[in-house]
Amino acid sequence: MPRLMELNRYIRDVPDFPKPGILFKDITPLLRDAGALRDCIDQLAARLDGKRIDAIAGIESRGFLFAATLAVRLGVGLVPLRKPNKLPYRRVREEYALEYGHDALEMHEDAVQKGQRVVLVDDLLATGGTMSAGRRLVERMGGEVAACLFVIELTFLGGRAKLAGVPVESLLRY
Ligand code: AMP
Repeated sequence: MPRLMELNRYIRDVPDFPKPGILFKDITPLLRDAGALRDCIDQLAARLDGKRIDAIAGIESRGFLFAATLAVRLGVGLVPLRKPNKLPYRRVREEYALEYGHDALEMHEDAVQKGQRVVLVDDLLATGGTMSAGRRLVERMGGEVAACLFVIELTFLGGRAKLAGVPVESLLRY
């Protein structure tokens, strides 16, 4: 798969960002290259071949970039899953643990209808906490998670195990 190997070249490693010890996977070189971005969206779309999909849910904030582009490509709507207190209307919340403390994601209560098949999208899978919270939001409102899609997966953190029971797809693994 030569296309996948090429995408690799558009991910920049930034050591010690946002804090010491973290090797940040910077996707901005991929975003600014029209061909690489199109390839990336094509590759994400290909992972959904043959699935019935009603909506794409993107995780704030880098997940939005891929989710919105993919939604347009597939001809389905976009559901934003946001950090607390950003969404204006009535919302549901799911918390998740961080290394120190916790964070949460919120979704509008009418964003997903019962029985809808939803694909969740984020830029990167690390420990899986963020995506598990997204999954719980969709399932709480009666949606069915058709897949969790990532551009990058940090396999050594084992986040995939936290998403057991739903299909997990990633384009680049480290
Ligand atoms: P987690 O909940 O541990 O799976 O973390 C995933 C979320 O944190 C995603 O929204 C990523 O954008 C972000 N993230 C975690 N680790 C990294 C990393 N090394 N480089 C870039 N983003 C990261």
